[in-house]
Amino acid sequence: MSVPLPFERRESVGVKVGAVTIGGGAPIVVQSMTNTDTADAAATADQVEALARAGSELVRITVNTPQAAAAVGEIRARLDDVGCRVPLVGDFHYNGHRLLSDYPDCARSLAKYRINPGNVGFGKKRDAQFATMVSIAMDYDKPVRIGVNWGSLDSDLLTRMMDENARRPDPLDARMVTREALVVSALSSAEAAETQGLGRDRIVLSCKVSGVQDLVAVYAELARRSDHALHLGLTEAGMGSKGIVASTAGMAILLQQGIGDTIRVSLTPEPGGDRTREVIVAQEILQTMGLRSFTPLVTACPGCGRTTSTFFQELANAIQSHLRESMPEWRERYAGVEEMSVAVMGCVVNGPGESKHANIGISLPGTGESPAAPVFIDGKKTVTLRGDNIAAEFQQIVDDYVASHYARRASR
Ligand code: SF4
Repeated sequence: MSVPLPFERRESVGVKVGAVTIGGGAPIVVQSMTNTDTADAAATADQVEALARAGSELVRITVNTPQAAAAVGEIRARLDDVGCRVPLVGDFHYNGHRLLSDYPDCARSLAKYRINPGNVGFGKKRDAQFATMVSIAMDYDKPVRIGVNWGSLDSDLLTRMMDENARRPDPLDARMVTREALVVSALSSAEAAETQGLGRDRIVLSCKVSGVQDLVAVYAELARRSDHALHLGLTEAGMGSKGIVASTAGMAILLQQGIGDTIRVSLTPEPGGDRTREVIVAQEILQTMGLRSFTPLVTACPGCGRTTSTFFQELANAIQSHLRESMPEWRERYAGVEEMSVAVMGCVVNGPGESKHANIGISLPGTGESPAAPVFIDGKKTVTLRGDNIAAEFQQIVDDYVASHYARRASR
C-alpha cells in the first residue's frame, strides 16, 4: 500500500537510455557500476548480469583502454545471449574521444556515454575533445551524462573562479567557490553540448562530491538553475556502514525535496564482497522512503533481553533472503508483490501489534513465553506455529500468500 508523498518531484526533461527513462516524471532509476577489468569481457558480462539480476536498471562499465573499448561489443553480445537487456553506460576519462572514434562497435553497443568535463582534455584540446564526444553521441543517437566530480574538477575553471573570487571586496570561502565551480562546470558543459546540437532530452547531469553537506548544497543549486535530469550520488562514499549512512543521509535529504532522477550508491566493497550490495542499498533507500518498491521488506524488531535466543534473528534473515532470491521469478509472475510487507517479531510485547500491520507477520515466543508463534495475515490471526519446523512452515505461508494475493502477469 503506497502512501502519498508530502512533496512534489522536481520537473525535469526525460532522457531515454535504451528502454529506460531518466527524469521527466519517470520512477527514479537505480544504477550501478562494475569493478571488473572491462577488457575481460566474460568477467564483466557476468558482473553486469549479476547487478541487473539484483535490480540495477542501468550498469556502467569503465572504458579506459583500447582493449576495454574493443571488449564492449562482446560484453553486449554476451548479455543479449543470456537475455539480459540492461543498458550499458560507458565511463570515459581522458581518451574517450579517441576510443569512441576508433571503436565504432563500442560507440554503438553503449546506451549512454559518461563525459567528465574535468578531464576530457586539457588546454586547447579540451573543447575539441568534448565536442568530438558530443558529436559521436549525436551520430549514434546516444544520450550522455555530463558527470562532474569534486576530485577531477576542471582545473582551469576552478583557478579562474578562485582568482575572480580573490579580487572581490568580500571573497567567499574557498569551499563555496569550489561548490559553485562544480555547478558552473556542469551547466556550461551542458550548454556547450546543446549549442552543438545535442538535445536537452539527451543530457543527464551530475556533480558528485564526497561530503554530505556539499552534496546537498551543490544539487540544490543545480536543481534550482536547470531542468536537466539529475544523476544523484555521493562519490567515494566509503566502506560498510559509513558508506551506506553517508549515501543515505545525503541522498535522502535531496530526494525528499524531489531532487534526483537516478541514483547510484558508490560503496567500496569489502575484499571479496558482493558488488550487488550497492544495488540493494539503492533500492532500500528508495523503498524505505516510499519512493519506489522493489522487494518485499521484512520488519523485524531489534530484539532485547526478552528474547535470548537467536532464532528470531535467523528467521528474519532467512525470510528476507528468501524474498530477495524469489523476486526475479516473482517479478515476472506476480504484479504488485514488491509491495508486500512481512514482520518477524521477537516477543509478545510488540509482536502481535506489529504483525497485524504487515501483510504477513509472525510473533515468536520470547524467553519464558509459551513456545507458540501466532501468524497474522492481513491483520487477522490465522494459525499458531509450534515445534521445530516453524521457519519452513512460515516460509510456505509467505509463498502461498504471494501465489493467492498477487495477480498473475501474462507470460512474456
Ligand atoms: S518485540 Fe519483544 S523482543 Fe522485540 S524488541 Fe520489543 S520487547 Fe524486545
